[in-house]
Amino acid sequence: MAYCSFCNNEVLKGTGEIYVLKDGTALNFCSSKCKRNSQKLKREGRLMKWTSKTLVLSSDKKAPEKKESALAKDIEAKLKAQKEAKK
Ligand SMILES: [Zn+2]
Repeated sequence: MAYCSFCNNEVLKGTGEIYVLKDGTALNFCSSKCKRNSQKLKREGRLMKWTSKTLVLSSDKKAPEKKESALAKDIEAKLKAQKEAKK
């Protein structure tokens, strides 16, 4: 059973899309919504409210979610630093 690369939901057999990057890594998407958010809108799945909600509901634990949000902030800061370095 594959899991969505963006929202971490299960991708049922015969549904969803597989998107293969130039370097050969395969990304599974459960819906066109997840594909658009990831590829066209270039969003991070773990930063979206509507994806973290499903994670909280499935795990019933709030502590790891807080850790993840702290991690997400670190990643955001690093991405900003990289963008500034490019300019
Ligand atoms: Zn998804």
